[in-house]
Amino acid sequence: MVCYPFRIAYACSSCAYLLVLLCSAFADIPPSLAPQVARELKPTETPAPNPSNVFARERIAFLRTEIARHDDLYFKQANPEISDFEYDRLKQELRNLEYSFPNIAKSLTTLLEIGDDRDGLFQTDRHETPMLSLRKAYSHSALQRFHKQVSHASNEEAVLYLIEPKIDGIAISLTYEQGNLVRALTRGNGLEGDDITANIMTIPSIPKKLTDTTEDGQKTTIPDRIEIRGEIFSNFSDFEAINRQRESRGESRFTHPRSLAAGSAKLSDSNQTAQRKLSVLFFGYGDFLPSSIVPKTQREFYQLAHSWGLPVLQTVRTAKGIDRLSTAINDEKSNLSEHPYPTDGLVVKVDLIALQAKLGYTNQAPRWALAYKFAPKQAETRLLSINIQVGRTGLLTPLAEFAPVSISGSKISRATLHNRRSISKLDLHIGDTIIIEKAGEIIPRIVSVDTSKRHADSTPYAFPDRCPSCSSAINLLSNEANLYCYNAKCPAQLQRRIEHFASSQCMNIDGLGPATIQLLIASKVVKDLPDLYKLESSKLLSPEKTNLVSTNKLLNSIKRSKHADLWRVICGIGIPGIGKARAKILAETIGSLESLSEISKVDFDGASEYNSIDAVTRRAILDYFSVPDNRTLVKQLILAGIQPSLSSKPSKSILSDKHFVLTGKLPTLSRQKATQVIESLGGIVRDTITEKTDYLLLGTNPGSKLKEAQERNITIIDEAFILRLTRE
Ligand SMILES: [Zn+2]
Repeated sequence: MVCYPFRIAYACSSCAYLLVLLCSAFADIPPSLAPQVARELKPTETPAPNPSNVFARERIAFLRTEIARHDDLYFKQANPEISDFEYDRLKQELRNLEYSFPNIAKSLTTLLEIGDDRDGLFQTDRHETPMLSLRKAYSHSALQRFHKQVSHASNEEAVLYLIEPKIDGIAISLTYEQGNLVRALTRGNGLEGDDITANIMTIPSIPKKLTDTTEDGQKTTIPDRIEIRGEIFSNFSDFEAINRQRESRGESRFTHPRSLAAGSAKLSDSNQTAQRKLSVLFFGYGDFLPSSIVPKTQREFYQLAHSWGLPVLQTVRTAKGIDRLSTAINDEKSNLSEHPYPTDGLVVKVDLIALQAKLGYTNQAPRWALAYKFAPKQAETRLLSINIQVGRTGLLTPLAEFAPVSISGSKISRATLHNRRSISKLDLHIGDTIIIEKAGEIIPRIVSVDTSKRHADSTPYAFPDRCPSCSSAINLLSNEANLYCYNAKCPAQLQRRIEHFASSQCMNIDGLGPATIQLLIASKVVKDLPDLYKLESSKLLSPEKTNLVSTNKLLNSIKRSKHADLWRVICGIGIPGIGKARAKILAETIGSLESLSEISKVDFDGASEYNSIDAVTRRAILDYFSVPDNRTLVKQLILAGIQPSLSSKPSKSILSDKHFVLTGKLPTLSRQKATQVIESLGGIVRDTITEKTDYLLLGTNPGSKLKEAQERNITIIDEAFILRLTRE
C-alpha cells in the first residue's frame, strides 16, 4: 500500500477518518476495509458533532469543487493544471470518503458529475450505448485485484488479455448506418456528446463509407448500425510542424498534442480542422447491430474493423494469466516512448467478448478493461527566478525559470506556475531545490519543494502588487487565484489585445496579423482598439510604404467589421473570462454594447431575463466595467462607428464562416443584394479567390475567376442555390 505523508495533515482524533486518509492511495484501498470503516461510522440517531464528520464534510465539498474545476480545465479548455496522476489521486480520495461517509456525501449539494466535454457551441446528440471511461490502476496490487475479479468470472486462471497503448487524445464515437458515416459525437457526459461530424469528415483516414471487401477479395458483412469508438490525436511530428507554423505567424504554441487535438476537433470552421492533420485509431464499439455478427474476440473485432477500412492498432500484444500480463505490462511500458503519438499508460482488455459480456459494467466503467497508468518521471533542480508574463486580458501568469534539467531525453528550464495559488500551495522560495516532472511526458511542472535543502535566510516568493509592464496596481484582494492588470492601456496587453480583437474567433479582420499590428503600434498610429477605425491609407503608407492594394484591403476589412455581430464585438474587447460561448449568451440577453457597459449588480439581481447568465459571467462583467477606462473604451468604439448587428444565432446560420466569391451577372439579384443575402446566412463575401474560398457564385459572362475556381476545385453554385437556402 502506498501512503502519502501530506495526508497525515488531515489526521484528527477519530481514528476512522485517519484510516481512510492513510489508506486512500487511489486504487490501493482494499475493498474489504472500506465497508468496516463505513459500519463503524454509521451515525447514531442524533449524531454528536464529531471532528471527523466536520473534516469529512469540508474535505468532500472541497474535493468536489476542485475536481469540477479540473474537469473544466481538462475537458472544456483542454488546458489541464495538474497531471492525470494527481487528478486520479483526488478522485480516489473523494470516492473513498464518499463510501465511508455516505450520509455526508448525500447531504452535500455540490454534486460531482463525470467529466463533460460539451461546450454549448455544437448540436448535441445521444449515444445509443453510453460511452464510459476506464477504471485506473497505478500498482501491481490493483492489477491483481482486477485479474482476480476476471478469473473468478471466467472460472479459470489463464485468461487471455490484450495490452494496448493508451492514446492521449480525445474520445470519439462514429455511427455508421448501412456502412455510411452518419454521425460523429464526442464523449460529452457519456450519455450525450457534441456533434462534430463536419470536422471529423475532414480527417482523411476516416472512411465515409465502410468497405465490404477485404484486400484479398473476401466479402465481409457490414453491420446495419455500429457505433465505433476510438481516439482522435495529434502525432508528435504533426504537433511540432503545426507549432512551428504558428510560431512563424506570431501565434501561441499548443502546450500538448492533446490540446491541439481537442481544440482542432471543435473548431467552428471545418476547413481549419482539416489543416490540423489529426489522426485517429479505433479500439472499441458501442451499439452493434445485428448482434449475430458481433465477433467472438476483441482481436477479431480489430481484424473486422480493419477490413472495413477503419484505422486500428496494427499489432496488439497478448498475455495469458496474471504473471505474463505483469511481464507484458513492464515490456510495453518501456516501449511507450517509441509510439509516434502521445500516450498516458496502457489499456488491459479481456479478449473474449462473451467474458466481457459476463463481467459487464459499473455505471462508470467496464469491468473487463483497465487503464494501467504510470507515475510521471521526475528530476531535481534549483529555482532561479519567477517571471510574470502579461497576457491579452491582462492575466498575469508566473513562469518559473530553473537550472536546466533533463527529463525523458529533453532539456527543460522553465515551467508555468499558472497562478498565485499554485505558488503559495508549493510555498516557493527563490533558490529552492524543486522537483520537476513532465505531465503526459510533455508539459514540465513543479511538483514539490525539498525544504530540507532550503537556505535558512530565504523568504517565500511574494507576488508583485504592480503590473510588471505598466505598474498599475493589481487587485490582490480578489479571492480568485488568477490576478489581472485591469489597465486597458497596458502596453504589454495592447499587441495581444489587437491580435485577439482581429482574430477569426472575434472580429475576423482579414489582413490584420501580428506583423501589421506590431508596425501600427511601433509607429504610434494605433494606441488602442478604437484607433483602428481612424486609420487612413496615407498614415498607413507613410512609414513603411506598404503595398497600396493590401492597405486598401486592410482598410476595407476593418470597415466591414464595424457591422460585425454583437457577440463578436463583446468577445473582441477581451473581457477576462468572457470567450465566444459566454459572449453569445450576453449578446442575446443584453442586446447592445452600451447596455452591457452600464449594467449593474442590481440589474442582474432584479431581472429574470438575465437568468441565463451564470455567476462567473456576471462577476466578470461587473469587475471589468468597474474600471472607468473600460467603459470609455466601449464608448470610443461606438463613436468610432462600431454598430454591431444582432444577427440570428450563429449556430443557426447555415453558411456560418463560409467564404464566397461572386463572378458574372446574376439572373435576378444585384451583386450588392446577393452579398446581403449571403451575409444574412452567416457567409462571408470576398473579391478574390484565395485558399479560404469555399464557393464561387456563378452568373452569366463570368470573368477569369471561373477558371481559377475550377483549377482550385472550388464548389461552383448558382443564384438559385442561394435563394433556396433563404427559404429553408
Ligand atoms: Zn499592466
